[in-house]
Amino acid sequence: MKPSLRKVVFIDRDGVINVDLWKYVESWEEFRFEDGAIAALKTLTDKGFDIIIISNQAGVGDGIFSESAMWDVHERMVREMGKHGIMIYGARYCTHGKNEQCDCRKPKTRLLEQAVEELEFDKQKTYFVGDKLSDLEAGKNFGAKTILVRTGYGAETEKKLTPTLQPDHIVNNLNDAVPFILKV
Ligand SMILES: [Mg+2]
Ligand SMILES: [Zn+2]
Repeated sequence: MKPSLRKVVFIDRDGVINVDLWKYVESWEEFRFEDGAIAALKTLTDKGFDIIIISNQAGVGDGIFSESAMWDVHERMVREMGKHGIMIYGARYCTHGKNEQCDCRKPKTRLLEQAVEELEFDKQKTYFVGDKLSDLEAGKNFGAKTILVRTGYGAETEKKLTPTLQPDHIVNNLNDAVPFILKV
């Protein structure tokens, strides 16, 4: 018998899960959860979703902060999430510089592909939630559905949408995306 498919959701980090400072989050002191993000992630955890964070952190490759600083923020974030009963399946970061032409920086899809290598799931029932055009493009390039949040750069991104680049839904924040994610 075929094993049942997993439910996967990809979520960008800065500007979706935590407040985008319009600069890199270089330390835990600068990390602040967006309003409603904890509640949203808890619901998704409780509903059995494999939550995967997909984040460009070119500040590492561009020499603005260290990779160990990035992982320190990651570990503390995961610990804080754990206190609220949130479990994430994984997080993938592109640490290449903006001009390195790597094959993983969003809108490329390598991080998404790597993250789900061991998961059986239906791409068409999977959302990518993000605040930038590159998030929407990555989701679409991968074959997933997309949700634009208005937090972070989202309100700016909304103005840049074109007829060929439209998210499936536009919502105010991650918590407002949850009903759509659950409905698939
Ligand atoms: Mg973002
Ligand atoms: Zn990369």
